[in-house]
Amino acid sequence: MKEITTKIRFWNGLKTIGGTIVSVEYENSRVIFDFGLSYNPAEEFSAIVKTRYHAMVEDYINLNKIPPIDGLYSRKDLRNLSNVISAEEDERNTAVLISHLHLDHIGAMGLVSPKIPVYLTEDSLRLYEAVEEIGEGVFGDRSYSPIRYESVLNVGEIKIIAVQLDHDILGACGFFIETPDVKIVYSGDLRLHGKHPELTMDFVSKANKFKPDLLLMEGTMINGERDSKDTKPSNELVGINTELQVKEMLINKFEKAKGLILVNASERNLERIHDIVEAAEAAGREIVLEPAMAYLTSRIIDSGNFMIYKSEELEAELLKGKVAGWMSELLDVYDVVSYKDINLNPKKYVMQNSFGNLMELLDLNLKKSVYIHSNAIPLGAYDPDFQKLQEFLRKLKIDYEYIGTPGHAFHSNLKYIIDEIQPDILVPLHSFYPEKLYPESKLQFLPHYGVEYIVKDKKIIKLKVK
Ligand SMILES: [Zn+2]
Ligand SMILES: [Zn+2]
Repeated sequence: MKEITTKIRFWNGLKTIGGTIVSVEYENSRVIFDFGLSYNPAEEFSAIVKTRYHAMVEDYINLNKIPPIDGLYSRKDLRNLSNVISAEEDERNTAVLISHLHLDHIGAMGLVSPKIPVYLTEDSLRLYEAVEEIGEGVFGDRSYSPIRYESVLNVGEIKIIAVQLDHDILGACGFFIETPDVKIVYSGDLRLHGKHPELTMDFVSKANKFKPDLLLMEGTMINGERDSKDTKPSNELVGINTELQVKEMLINKFEKAKGLILVNASERNLERIHDIVEAAEAAGREIVLEPAMAYLTSRIIDSGNFMIYKSEELEAELLKGKVAGWMSELLDVYDVVSYKDINLNPKKYVMQNSFGNLMELLDLNLKKSVYIHSNAIPLGAYDPDFQKLQEFLRKLKIDYEYIGTPGHAFHSNLKYIIDEIQPDILVPLHSFYPEKLYPESKLQFLPHYGVEYIVKDKKIIKLKVK
């Protein structure tokens, strides 16, 4: 008789930042986590090339943006892909788990067949519903199910526990996954230098008690030049800006600046926005948020004292009566300011400006103004828009300054976390240099795509090549 064992397969996101997709299967039960798209703006077509929404599943599979996993997509969405088994034709009990709401973890979750449940933490779901309301949800017509921190979700014979941790978005968690023969911890994205280091520390100690065979761990901050053996495991934050320090740096900057302050802050990091609002208040400036950011802030973290920027475009839409319900409600409650108001006394304001609304700057009095970039798109030189932003600011003679901190743990902290959890085997992923992340015990495993693995006698073994 064939022995029943847990099969693990890595579908995406081993050597990229995000797009991690892993399946864990035991007999007729299967979980898949996460379901995002890896983020590489330099490889994307410009918006001129249209996305074929009606054929998105098929196109994305053909383009290798999502994996051809059997039993996950609807037959009608697979269209001409007859070699992929549809969700309707698959008997397995499958669920998709989402660790947090960054696009590299959720970008394709809307493409999963509505027959398959997709689970988000309750906090993530609350945030996602607000994001969807402002028209920024992911493509796809389906619903999402809540999973409560620390409570057990059963998918057939697989048990899953979502454990909260600290990342630069609300609702982030890692998963403890237990099948009858294997225990896995998946870290999602995490850090020690955020607003709630105690959450990550708690996650780590629970993970240690769980005694995982495998730890699947993100390695975003692993640097290609530095060898792992030169980095000692440590939970110290020397040379690392904490979120707390970022807030102090912002207050300092807001107090010293002589003109208008523009802040491009991370679209989904509402706790950072909260700090920016408070920093402006501490520095005696008025804070002006774009409507979308204001809506999320008011609905999710209730960060009181801000005004809303009313662009001329918004003004025109209001006149035409074409404004969405959420926006008119917001405009009823909060004070609004136009560029003309700001120009009367620019140094009185901190104005949030997302990259999409960059052209609004052209209306503003920018004398002695400063542009503070705080972990928002375009995130770095790997994005062609980053250079374009710099040139734009130079042209307008606006000073550029980065004030922020990443959402991901630094190398020494990652090594500390691994040593504390003490898994039998470490699988680094979500990294350009996964091979450089290994524990002192050196028990690191670098998987390949297209292979099924099983865990036996504290070793991970290749099952078959498809
Ligand atoms: Zn990520
Ligand atoms: Zn993330």
